Amino acid sequence: MNNTPESLIYEISVPGRVGVNLPDCDVPKARLPAELTRDELDLPEVSELQVVRHFVNLSQKNMAIDRNFYPLGSCTMKYNPKLNEDMARLTGFAQLHPLTDEAGAQGALALMHTLQEWLAEIAGFTGCSMAPAAGAQGELAGILMIRAFHRDRGDEKRTKILVPNSAHGTNPATVTMAGLTAVELPSDNRGNVDLEALRAACDDTIAGMMITVPSTLGLFDSNIVEIIQLVHECGGLMYMDGANMNSLLGIVKPGELGFDVMHYNLHKTFSTPHGGGGPGCGAVGANDRLKDYLPGPISAIVEPAGEKNPAPLYGLVTPVRSIGRLKAFQGNFGMHVRAYAYIAAYGGEGLRDVSKYAVLNANYVRASLNDVYTVPYDRYCAHEFVMEGHWKDAPGIHALDIAKRLMDYNFHPPTNYFPLIVPEALLIEPTETEDKATLDAFIEVMRKIAAEAKSQPDLLHDAPHDAPVGRVDEVRAAKQLMLCCRPEPDWRRSKADAPATT
Ligand SMILES: *Cc1c(COP(=O)(O)O)cnc(C)c1O
Repeated sequence: MNNTPESLIYEISVPGRVGVNLPDCDVPKARLPAELTRDELDLPEVSELQVVRHFVNLSQKNMAIDRNFYPLGSCTMKYNPKLNEDMARLTGFAQLHPLTDEAGAQGALALMHTLQEWLAEIAGFTGCSMAPAAGAQGELAGILMIRAFHRDRGDEKRTKILVPNSAHGTNPATVTMAGLTAVELPSDNRGNVDLEALRAACDDTIAGMMITVPSTLGLFDSNIVEIIQLVHECGGLMYMDGANMNSLLGIVKPGELGFDVMHYNLHKTFSTPHGGGGPGCGAVGANDRLKDYLPGPISAIVEPAGEKNPAPLYGLVTPVRSIGRLKAFQGNFGMHVRAYAYIAAYGGEGLRDVSKYAVLNANYVRASLNDVYTVPYDRYCAHEFVMEGHWKDAPGIHALDIAKRLMDYNFHPPTNYFPLIVPEALLIEPTETEDKATLDAFIEVMRKIAAEAKSQPDLLHDAPHDAPVGRVDEVRAAKQLMLCCRPEPDWRRSKADAPATT
């Protein structure tokens, strides 16, 4: 599957060829303003079939969850039932104009309200807002809520947020965005937060703590109750990064543990394909202390069911002390529909099974690989685990080589070089939806690659062997973004010339 000419649509373009057959215009022709039109528009001229084949071929060059096992840790493409795509496209939802008045949008508002209640119940909170458009924006909302809480009480000196070094990278970034100071906490040798360091850091300048649960090491902190207690005792509030609730559903309610505020990633845990920067929803749940600070708008019952109206009347409200708006309209509503459909289809018991199998599968893979790979925190993990992609007796082999070699076996590589606190990290999340045969096939390949690393290291260094694009220069790709499908003349350098990434 190398770069065959068909992979470049401009190369099959023939002047004058058209792919559409438009009907005659049945309205008077109008002139567009000159500033909106161009005479020179360099588009490929191709037939309908060529266009279809071009895009279908391109789509098949990708490693995709619909074709391959995709164990990408942390931001995994989890289970995104196709049915939920249909639900989000139902005309009554998809075509509902965001400016429709509340009376005309009761169905959508009822769905939002029910989903808010479900999410709050799942995580043990009393309020929920689905306005934030991403996990990171949910984090910003939560930290701004904590900041507002302290400011309202005139407690201005609380300007620090504790962030363990096993946190997701967005956590310290969020703290900084919110105008507070992130104070990093080390982990102990089991991968838990170092309690001594936490004790030493707790004082009356602490606004709160932001902890990723499970951590990016895939671990549930064994001292979580004590951690929450310590931070509360010094007057701080507890933020939980709940992006990966798919390991805790029906098992742990963060609100009952004592967390004050948390975000969920609906686009990870509750359906909706993500990646490629598509729409997201970083819903935020909060307890009684913080729910009045939630971002708006949220859907509320403005008039309970009664004689006049057999169903309750819903409206959009902004909580009294709200930090305000973060997003236009009501957030990404299509995602609310998918999450609603997902939770409704599973029910409580089903959601618990999701988490049980996610955790079981991750532990099965971990326990099947820990004799050939170094698993730095080798204890029961949650939905994912981290291992090291290097060996003393395989000099020159890096996590990236293992990741690329996996592609030769048709597996999407795991997340690599994250979390940062593990050298040559490979973060593996199998998810609950894979069967044992798939996991066994993956394990067998991982063991094979470990053997190859020692006997035939070049097989790894030269991998992937038949991907259309081998190793991209990520630095150049980021700095010289090429957004046009018409390539620069020199873009197609041979594989041998392409610099290896690090
Ligand atoms: C994905 C993720 C985030 C960020 O979510 P976005 O929607 O990408 O902003 C935050 N924390 C954790 C633990 C995550 O896995």
